[in-house]
Amino acid sequence: MNTKSNQHRSSVPLVLVAAGRGHRAGHGVPKQYRLLMGTEVLVHTLKALLADPRIGPVQCVIHPDDLALYQACIDQLDHADQTRMMPAIAGGQTRQGSVKAGLEALQSALQSALQADNRINTSVLIHDAARPFVSGDLLDRALAMADQTIAAVPALAVTDTLKWVDAEGRVDGTADRTTLRAVQTPQVFEFAALLAAHRKAVQTGQNDLTDDAAVMELAGHKVSFFAGDRDNIKLTLEDDFRMSERRMQADMIPVTGLGYDVHAFTKGDHVWLGGVRIAHDRGVRAHSDGDVILHALTDALLGALADGDIGQHFPPSDEQWRGASSDRFVQFAVGRIRERGGRLVHVDITLVCETPRLGPHRNAILTVLSRLCGLPTTKIGLKATTSEKMGFTGRGEGLAAQAIATVLLPD
Ligand code: MG
Repeated sequence: MNTKSNQHRSSVPLVLVAAGRGHRAGHGVPKQYRLLMGTEVLVHTLKALLADPRIGPVQCVIHPDDLALYQACIDQLDHADQTRMMPAIAGGQTRQGSVKAGLEALQSALQSALQADNRINTSVLIHDAARPFVSGDLLDRALAMADQTIAAVPALAVTDTLKWVDAEGRVDGTADRTTLRAVQTPQVFEFAALLAAHRKAVQTGQNDLTDDAAVMELAGHKVSFFAGDRDNIKLTLEDDFRMSERRMQADMIPVTGLGYDVHAFTKGDHVWLGGVRIAHDRGVRAHSDGDVILHALTDALLGALADGDIGQHFPPSDEQWRGASSDRFVQFAVGRIRERGGRLVHVDITLVCETPRLGPHRNAILTVLSRLCGLPTTKIGLKATTSEKMGFTGRGEGLAAQAIATVLLPD
């Protein structure tokens, strides 16, 4: 079965514009790669789009400097969704140039499919990577327009009063807002007409139009409206990120997980604690590296997801985990949280032993935990206690650790 051509047959190709530098929101990386609830904006946007089986193939247009950032995003998609992505291409100097590049790439890629199968949808959607809140309903409305018009854009009535501004930055009149609309993406077009309009715009020296409707208007086409969505904001300013995170968090519930681990001392010259090798007059008996901090932490993370325990995912009977470095167990559990659309927000760990002392290694361990968990050290509790010479830890027979993790999960 040739799944790819089946997909093309029933699908609408989409150009996702992700080439902007977008530093207005601060933070160094372009805004489409900034984290929103621990996940890149681009990943949120792609997942929202690919949730609709009618969408695809998706042609991302990116900045050449961002290839590694982009690939890290694609790696987070399901395998089936990855097959709906065309290889990314480099954008132009402007948004208009980037869309044109995306359309040209799709045109070459789909040409044979277009000829081989005249049932392929000849529409195309254009969407901004910085609009991660595109909803299924909005996509429904866009796709419904695909069969009806040559060009259609989602629009909102303008509710604020709009003023014209003079050269001195003062009010120079009041616009009649009843004749104005705020326009979003996804915009939907007849593929061939949009590509022709883009080629024509370049010929006439126009190269900085801010949306594709403007390209079609310039070519003399009538553009229709359909209902936009107030939640479908374009992340632009710092405030947009803050408000979006607050909104997304309001839809999540906090869960906690508890972890506990013990290893007995044996002959040796070091122990592993929190991913740090610590010289010691004994070692620990373990199948892996015997890192009680990372094992307790892994179980806490899995516990928050009600997703089994470390022994279930990494059975001691399995030879491949012999001597394994335990950071991979934590990375696995953190990945499971991400797969569930969750966000790790806090961990707290207690080491229980008479020796070695935690103090001298605390900062090194915090650095490792921060990297593994994707948390700032201000969100990682790390402390130690002895058990007053009582019990197995008190007698110096071994090490124990407890961990608790707080995770936000989609409701
Ligand atoms: Mg263990």
